[in-house]
Amino acid sequence: MNRQLTFISQRKTAMFERMLFSFVVAFFIYCQCVSGKVEAATEQRMDWKAGVASTVITPEQPMWMAGYAARNKPSEGKVHDLRAKAIAMEDAQGTRLVIVTVDLLGLSRSSRDWLEKEAGKLYNLPPEWLLLNASHTHCGPALHVTRYSIYGDSLCDQTPEQKQQSVQYLDDLHQKLLQLIGSAMEDLAPARLSYSHARAGFAMNRRSNTERGYQIQPNPDGPVDHDVPVLRIDSPDGKLRAVVFGYACHCTTMSFYEFCGDHAGFAQQYIEQAHPGVTALYVAGCGGDQNPYPRGGPRTLEYCREHGRALANGVETALTPRARPVAGPIRAAIDTVTLEFAEPPSREQLEEQIKSENKYQRAHAQTLLDELEQTGKIKTTYPYLVQVIDFGDDLTMIALAGEVVVDYSLRLKAELAGRPVWVAGYCNDVFGYLPSLRVLQEGGYESGGAMLYTPLPGPFAPSVEKLVIDKVHELVREVRTLKEN
Ligand SMILES: [Zn+2]
Repeated sequence: MNRQLTFISQRKTAMFERMLFSFVVAFFIYCQCVSGKVEAATEQRMDWKAGVASTVITPEQPMWMAGYAARNKPSEGKVHDLRAKAIAMEDAQGTRLVIVTVDLLGLSRSSRDWLEKEAGKLYNLPPEWLLLNASHTHCGPALHVTRYSIYGDSLCDQTPEQKQQSVQYLDDLHQKLLQLIGSAMEDLAPARLSYSHARAGFAMNRRSNTERGYQIQPNPDGPVDHDVPVLRIDSPDGKLRAVVFGYACHCTTMSFYEFCGDHAGFAQQYIEQAHPGVTALYVAGCGGDQNPYPRGGPRTLEYCREHGRALANGVETALTPRARPVAGPIRAAIDTVTLEFAEPPSREQLEEQIKSENKYQRAHAQTLLDELEQTGKIKTTYPYLVQVIDFGDDLTMIALAGEVVVDYSLRLKAELAGRPVWVAGYCNDVFGYLPSLRVLQEGGYESGGAMLYTPLPGPFAPSVEKLVIDKVHELVREVRTLKEN
């Protein structure tokens, strides 16, 4: 009985061992398959090429500066060089995207149109694959773009020679940017892309409700977006080659007469110093209503360096964890949406405004009267550019034109939640502010007050936010449909 039991028990043990062995073998085979799939996926993710290029764009001579209408003389030296940079990325299908960043107040639609056309001819780069972003530093040169604009030069009392210098600078800049795109493409080499993000806290909402309406003052209770999105580019052996990073904040720590990239310039400098050979590209976010604080006073350059350090630290923090691999394919779309302005002032109102004590009001009224004279009407719409780029299922980049207030970034990230969403402002055409409906209704500088310093007639109509958001969603649907086909 005992022997029988022992025999049965031994048979059971042998069966169990065979089953266990079969299970281990099956599990091993399964693991090999899964690991093969993972390797295949990793390989696919590594199947990128990337190239970078950088060039100095600091004017060689003293030059009129852009950003503050009250400046009354040309620049006097520099804190550091202003730069233009480009990164080209090519997915496994050979589709190429180029992002160009500049340490300037903004690039106009006319610059975008010229570059788009020339890059199309020279490099066969379709418009949706070119993204331009300006850091919005207020310590860069004034570009001669329109007859009357805070983004150009005509608000200031420049001599004809100074105006000519500005025209020449812009012509040279166009050529440099075109070459830069080519250099980034020539630099294409196998790469890995990954995404991560961290935070930096020095941007504060700058719209405060006062007895005199909304004024530019620090508002600790206003909406902010402290996200620091980071796209990292490594060589296949894991060596860091470039970082593209963003932040939603005005580059307005400085307001002096020296060329300076403000906190965005310092942040790029610090990252490149910490990682020799790496190119750091700053992409301005929706910081239309965000200012760096503290700012101003005798210590302001020190604050500026500290903000730059805080932003660089944000990028370093984002580089610390294992970043999310970014796979292709890349898909992009760009389109204009026709934004409506509120009712423009009548001829009678403009003729009244032309007698104003305020020289900007006088100049704005004159600009609109001239438009009325030349075209018979004041423009009622604006062709607003929206661009969307999908990096596989791993990252969606939304590039909005103008000085975009933070509400757009917060809203789009919430509405497109489920994968990382990067919302950039100051892209492709810096023409003026893009207020949300809330900001438009509250009033103040970003709502329409700032239009006084542009050739545009006045505030946008209340349809502004819906039109932009609808266009973003339309393009997101378009690129995702493209990807499925
Ligand atoms: Zn601004």
